[in-house]
Amino acid sequence: MLTDDRLRTNLPGVYAVGDIVPGLQLAHRGFQQGIFIAEDIVGLNPQPIDEAGIPRVTYSHPEAASVSLTEAAAKKQYGQVQTFTYDLAGNSKSQILKTAGAVKLVRTADGPVLGLHLVGDRIDELIDEAQLIYNPTTSPPSYTPTPPRPKPSARPTSPWPANRCTCTADQPADHLRACGRFLTGR
Ligand SMILES: Cc1cc2nc3c(=O)[nH]c(=O)nc-3n(C[C@H](O)[C@H](O)[C@H](O)COP(=O)(O)OP(=O)(O)OC[C@H]3O[C@@H](n4cnc5c(N)ncnc54)[C@H](O)[C@@H]3O)c2cc1C
Repeated sequence: MLTDDRLRTNLPGVYAVGDIVPGLQLAHRGFQQGIFIAEDIVGLNPQPIDEAGIPRVTYSHPEAASVSLTEAAAKKQYGQVQTFTYDLAGNSKSQILKTAGAVKLVRTADGPVLGLHLVGDRIDELIDEAQLIYNPTTSPPSYTPTPPRPKPSARPTSPWPANRCTCTADQPADHLRACGRFLTGR
């Protein structure tokens, strides 16, 4: 089904999203298009979607995920590019999951990020960050910073500091707990 860049069909008031619209038939695309239409209908005037910025995740074992350009495509479009590869082998979560893989970032020389590519089990959990890194204009207008966390109140101190209390073991339990004897038995 053909649409314009605001996902409108040729029928007034009828939009189309997902696999039915020519393009990559992947889940994140349909989802992002759906959010776009909802925002458009309620008058939030969202920017047309940059399809390159939509995450592509293959739910395989291991998973593969990417946002925007590969290194080869970036070189073709921008000439000189820089790449950085982070090997997941040394990552503690990867070790727990018994997976390996890598995260590769492609950017213009000292400039914006052009693409991110990830391989490894459960790397779909990282793709949101990749999307945020690639889409530099992400700035939710309603975002309000979290208020500073209140300082934790000082821990109540024992009136009988451990190792200084000279009490005997026949003291009440709350005293023994506070002075440390309850745990050490000394
Ligand atoms: C085997 C397989 C593996 C996939 N793996 C991946 C993957 O690894 N990563 C990824 O991103 N994407 C993957 N996809 C693609 C992904 O599932 C689709 O891109 C996504 O679901 C498309 O969303 P959609 O809303 O366009 O369509 P759908 O999710 O297909 O939703 C269409 C809905 O419309 C309903 N429907 C159809 N006809 C009618 C009717 N006449 N009346 C009422 N309801 C109707 C259907 O029942 C369905 O619920 C995979 C797809 C398949 C089939």
